[in-house]
Amino acid sequence: MPLHYSYERCNGFARFILLFLYSRVTELLKVISDLEDSELDGKRVLIRVDYNVSVNSGSVGEDFRIRMTIPTIEYLTKRRSKIVLVSHLGRPTDRQPQYSLAPVAKRLSEMMGKSKVKFTSSNIGKNVRQEIDGMEKGDVLLLENLRFYKEEESNDPEFSKELASLADIYVNDAFSTSHRKHASTYGAPRLFDVRLAGFNLRKEVEYLSMIKDNPSKPFIVVLGGVKINDKIGALENLLPKADRVLLGGAAAYTFLKAKGVNTANSLIDSEHLVWVTKALSIFGDKIMLPTDHVISSSADNGYAAMVKGDIPDGMIGFDIGNETIQRYSSEVGGRGSGTVFWNGPMGLFEIGLFANGTINIAKSMALAYWRGSKTLVGGGDTLEAMKRAGVSEGEVSHVSTGGGASLKYLAGDEMPGLAVLTDE
Ligand code: ADP
Ligand code: MG
Repeated sequence: MPLHYSYERCNGFARFILLFLYSRVTELLKVISDLEDSELDGKRVLIRVDYNVSVNSGSVGEDFRIRMTIPTIEYLTKRRSKIVLVSHLGRPTDRQPQYSLAPVAKRLSEMMGKSKVKFTSSNIGKNVRQEIDGMEKGDVLLLENLRFYKEEESNDPEFSKELASLADIYVNDAFSTSHRKHASTYGAPRLFDVRLAGFNLRKEVEYLSMIKDNPSKPFIVVLGGVKINDKIGALENLLPKADRVLLGGAAAYTFLKAKGVNTANSLIDSEHLVWVTKALSIFGDKIMLPTDHVISSSADNGYAAMVKGDIPDGMIGFDIGNETIQRYSSEVGGRGSGTVFWNGPMGLFEIGLFANGTINIAKSMALAYWRGSKTLVGGGDTLEAMKRAGVSEGEVSHVSTGGGASLKYLAGDEMPGLAVLTDE
């Protein structure tokens, strides 16, 4: 992958233009509250949400993704719109019942209290049309899993047309699927005259564009986990702007190896060693790496030891050590100003012996928040780890549920689902 530190290389005027263009994205994004109430009254509004939650034996597990759509839905029900919700769930290969959104409709109904949520098992055709015709103002209807139709992912024009015919106004409140060019994120919205962002999507774009383009300083990035490949684009954009980049998790071992530290059997991404070496040569001053480690010869033998410096041969680094935790924690939680972005656990936190680093960083993130820093946490496993550490969503400025989409946005990749909202 080429290193294109464009922002860093730009002179003052070009930087000004870049910042202007970036800020235009949020400015151009029209949100539902930009419409007059009279423009929403009685209108059918199709909202693309992300209800890709875990469902076990017909009941919803973690429902954060459902809860977070309440502000957008209730803003519209109060203005007497008729709301048609669409989402995907999992990766069904067919109409497999375990991927039905019916349990989600039930959970959403419970959350909404008096306004009940109806559900239809079809997304296009006569039945769903009749159902929508019969809706009263303020009613909410959830359609079945979009991925029960292969036309969704292939962005089929006919399917898009059918979806678009169901409503007057399109709203995207699913930032996490906005990097995809699917019928519900791209094909259908193009056919609406009025395309808007929901409150979640808007907030996600605001926070991500802030850290990508104009983070308040000092800006600290904490990066861990395993998927260097998915994170390198974001890292490339964030490195020039960050004051400090703290590396942990398996990701750190590729950097340590590039510096000549013995990483023994730790997870290494050898494909990206060249990139990492170059990044270290340009940004070495701001990159912080673990100086001690929790090691074992395998993940599940119930044994762990702490070492400084090199990892002994035959061993694997599974977590950052105490000294590193102290250094990282004071960087993250010790200030109370600026911005902290965290993506990727510091170790194999699923196993108790290797969870300490991640738990401490989660707690430091909460401390940073309470001290006044803007904090942003993203990544499926990172959010899971935060929960295990007992840090709630309310102790973070913004919980980014965007996953891969957030990383792509930070890398400056194309986002068809956002572009379609701002295109004339
Ligand atoms: P996220 O989902 O937050 O973006 P990733 O998917 O990149 O994070 O990585 C999370 C996974 O990385 C976790 O399952 C964790 O156990 C694993 N991991 C972190 N550090 C290590 C390590 N040193 N060795 C092996 N696996 C690790
Ligand atoms: Mg993950």
